[in-house]
Amino acid sequence: MNNQQMELKIGWLYPTLMSTYGDRGNVICIQQRAQWQGFNVQVIPLDLQASVTEIHQVDLLVGGGAQDRQQEIVMRDLKGAKATALREKIEAGTPGVFTCGAPQLLGHYYEPALGQRIEGLGLFDFVSKHPGIEAKRCIGNVVFEITASKLAEELTAMLGKPPVIIGFENHGGRTYLGKVEALGKVISGYGNNGEDGMEGAFFHNAIATYSHGPVLPKNPFLADWLVKTALQQKYQTNVELKSLDDGLAMQAREAMFKKLGVSELAAY
Ligand code: GLN
Repeated sequence: MNNQQMELKIGWLYPTLMSTYGDRGNVICIQQRAQWQGFNVQVIPLDLQASVTEIHQVDLLVGGGAQDRQQEIVMRDLKGAKATALREKIEAGTPGVFTCGAPQLLGHYYEPALGQRIEGLGLFDFVSKHPGIEAKRCIGNVVFEITASKLAEELTAMLGKPPVIIGFENHGGRTYLGKVEALGKVISGYGNNGEDGMEGAFFHNAIATYSHGPVLPKNPFLADWLVKTALQQKYQTNVELKSLDDGLAMQAREAMFKKLGVSELAAY
């Protein structure tokens, strides 16, 4: 089977409500990189009116950040059959990248700055709490090394070195992990809560992170991992990606590592 015969369907969760922090760049990045590889790509917006069938047909999921109010609306919608469909997809290994507000909703609950606790899907074993409007938000560039074992192993094989992610965080909520594996170890920045040195979570093939940026154009190898994993899962065959010219992204990474004083890690 050649690349032109393969199709990647990207499910974009709640684009109208959960696009406050520019994470749409992740959708564009996956779409473009997959097209450069010759795959056919379809972006399927999974907004309020999306059906369960639409959720079932996607090969890869992207969820972006939002403000507390929008998160509440989404959680009122993401119930019953829709919630089950999303849970089944993730548990079956559909890869995804969920940023900031999106993972807060996939955990047990999110306590916003004001108002009532929002119950989440309980897919990821973690809770998120906003300490209140007086509390300082966690804002700034963030650098972390991916430590989630399966992902770290696969990315190290791809890159020939440990995967270091650079992004930008902007959150009031703090996340505390239960038994779920952390996505990574913070090198610079706050990560999940600014206390325990952990960042994000990894469950089956789903990546939860506080890292905007958007994260994928800044770390294109992660986009490639998502594309490869999604298509291998769908077609049950090995998918090899050709290397793309990431010179500009690499220069941007080097510049940011230098600025943050972590240039010795600018291995990638
Ligand atoms: N509303 C959430 C918080 O402040 C999420 C913010 C975001 O998605 N960047 O924690």
